[in-house]
Amino acid sequence: MPVKGLREIGEFGLISKIRNWTDASRADVVQGIGDDVAVVEMGKKVLLITTDILIEGIHFERSWIDPFRLGKKALAVNLSDIAAMGGIPKYFLISLGLPKTLPFSFVSLFYRGLKEMARRFQVDLIGGDTSLAQKIIINICLIGEGKRGGLLFRNGAKVGDDLYVSGTLGDSALGLKILQDKSIPKKPKGLIDRHLSPTPRIELGQALGRKQIASAMIDVSDGLLSDTKHILEESKVGARIWEDRIPLSGPFRKWVSPSSKDRYRIALAGGEDYELLFTASPKWKASILSLSHSLNIAITRVGEILPKKEGFHLIGKEGEKILPPQTGFDHFK
Ligand code: ADP
Ligand code: MG
Repeated sequence: MPVKGLREIGEFGLISKIRNWTDASRADVVQGIGDDVAVVEMGKKVLLITTDILIEGIHFERSWIDPFRLGKKALAVNLSDIAAMGGIPKYFLISLGLPKTLPFSFVSLFYRGLKEMARRFQVDLIGGDTSLAQKIIINICLIGEGKRGGLLFRNGAKVGDDLYVSGTLGDSALGLKILQDKSIPKKPKGLIDRHLSPTPRIELGQALGRKQIASAMIDVSDGLLSDTKHILEESKVGARIWEDRIPLSGPFRKWVSPSSKDRYRIALAGGEDYELLFTASPKWKASILSLSHSLNIAITRVGEILPKKEGFHLIGKEGEKILPPQTGFDHFK
């Protein structure tokens, strides 16, 4: 049956079609469409290239986020993709679509935020493009470096591996919900910050890549369920996740009561956590624990990798099997 609209096919269905339309002709392309970044061979090293777009009214509203934080976040979400490969971020280009009526101070503050994030992760702005647009459009292309054999792809998960996630989940999605809710005058800062100012897990990604501790990795941008699915599809395996092991922050627990149906739905399907989700052989358990201590980042074992025929399911509090509900964010659904 021919596909009529993008709504039917969805964002990931569309990307999969695009992937089929593309032929890989160059031998130096190690990884094209289908992972967190593209990987291209350059002599002994590999170049990592990733791009992300932020559109006013879709990804952000000017009334929620100030230009300084917007600048930081625009770069942070790209850095997160390099983190998910275990790479070293280096240079970026930024293209902007801007309305004529936008105050100059908005742009200068935006660049201040961009610069702060760039300094923190030692990346340089090396170019871009500027155009008139109806709404603010921000596109960054970030270039990084990696070593062959030191990178982590989505396709390396093995049956018997543990599934881990860094930090806590759901804070960003809850923060966004609160930002959108006009009936909440006093907004909890911690949750809002997790949405507006994500931290890319660059050091953790590199540490997991360097010794190949992880077997597969992705950043949680679309939600735990959706991003786990990406690993499972690329690795051709199944998995189970224990619902009550999903790491929730103190503020999240305070805001969403344990009895609320939303509790796990937000943490499982809410996006923009920018945490790292990875698989690792059980032999690395102690190394992962010590990494968590040395970097001061919580790392939680939330599940395990199963043979593909077992599919993907959650285990509830009473040990019951739950089929994953509607997964994370899809732009067209
Ligand atoms: P992420 O959430 O990490 O940004 P996406 O789900 O957006 O990743 O993209 C998955 C893969 O599809 C990546 O390899 C990305 O480069 C590729 N991709 C996304 N959109 C397009 C497009 N319009 N054309 C070609 N490739 C695309
Ligand atoms: Mg990604």
